[in-house]
Amino acid sequence: MPNADLPPASDLATHLARAGVADPRTFGDVMPPLHLSSNYTFASLAEPRRFDYTRSGNPTRALLLETLAQAEGAEGGVVTASGMAAVAVACRLFPAGHTLLTPIDGYGGTRRLLDALDRRGELRVVTTAASDDALVDAIRRHPSAAVWVETPTNPHLRVVDVARIARATHEHGGALVVDNTFLTPAGCRPIALGADLVVHSTTKAINGHSDVVGGAVLARREADAESLAWWANALGCTGSPFDAWLTLRGLRTLPLRLAAQERTALELAHWLEAHPAVRCVSYPGLPSHPGHTLASAQQASFGLIVTFELAGGMEGVRRLVERLRHFTLAESLGGVESLVCHPATMTHACLTEAQRSEAGVGPGLVRLSIGIEAASDLRADLEAALRTQPALSAREATPV
Ligand code: PLP
Repeated sequence: MPNADLPPASDLATHLARAGVADPRTFGDVMPPLHLSSNYTFASLAEPRRFDYTRSGNPTRALLLETLAQAEGAEGGVVTASGMAAVAVACRLFPAGHTLLTPIDGYGGTRRLLDALDRRGELRVVTTAASDDALVDAIRRHPSAAVWVETPTNPHLRVVDVARIARATHEHGGALVVDNTFLTPAGCRPIALGADLVVHSTTKAINGHSDVVGGAVLARREADAESLAWWANALGCTGSPFDAWLTLRGLRTLPLRLAAQERTALELAHWLEAHPAVRCVSYPGLPSHPGHTLASAQQASFGLIVTFELAGGMEGVRRLVERLRHFTLAESLGGVESLVCHPATMTHACLTEAQRSEAGVGPGLVRLSIGIEAASDLRADLEAALRTQPALSAREATPV
């Protein structure tokens, strides 16, 4: 069982359901209105009100930010136009040429941006092997470095010990950024574990309905929150009010959605693990997962992503995706609808062949994002689609 005593389980559902409800400053609206205006009147010359121009600040976006910041236990931050805009703004907090350490196994788009910033000398990016030990070792060798982790990682779902990495980072004078996209504040609260900044692609489970591209960065400290807001305004990458309104609407049901998705993910992961066509399954809720104990302690949910390796390689994946009916072949994750993704040709296609092989993203790897459909339908769909796959010989079967 994931840790049900962690803060998110207790009051998050109430906080999200009630955010901005019955605000006395409106016409008695029960639900917060959508403020689309791009500009706001000044009270008088040189006397702006709380908001003057929507790029810098907007009531709808501010409500989403406050709701997310409180959910993450942050002082504040910024809501951005995409998850990558959030990654880019977070990188601005470090001085030019600053060293940033990150394990090789993360989202391909983040890696692409970090590599580009490194080539231009804006950051000195040092990648480490996909293990906490390797990262701690690098932290010792690069004092005051910024550290960037994703947990669980995309697509392998390696669980990073956030408290351990935060301790090592701070002992050596650095700052820790955690991309919490996969778990959301309903599944993990990295700031409570010691992180300095939390990054989200709100495109995923936070919005949860695959109709918004957005992001957020939340900061433990007020000074960082102000700096993030300054950069997002200066760069012009803040999120649109309509996206913020939709995201807030999606966010209200996050705890319910995540609980249902996690239940189904666990059931399917167990089932896939016993399937003869599947070489190995990665889901932190499985006792066989190397990060299971850690995930049980630091997370309130094991999440909604299940990754597995087909014995039949690329051809096997082609046959699988052609036969699936309830899993749509598409990028992204975290929506109410189940998706199937082939990381090698989709989310991680922007990496070089060598980087993909270093990150273990092979041709037979499949990533499922579990939606809220009936578990029995999803299982029957997988069962039918996997029927024609070549089975593993007993010798070939390998544990995760
Ligand atoms: N971080 C993670 C872990 C992701 O999976 C993604 C996108 O898949 C991003 C950041 C980027 O987010 P967006 O696509 O909203 O720009």
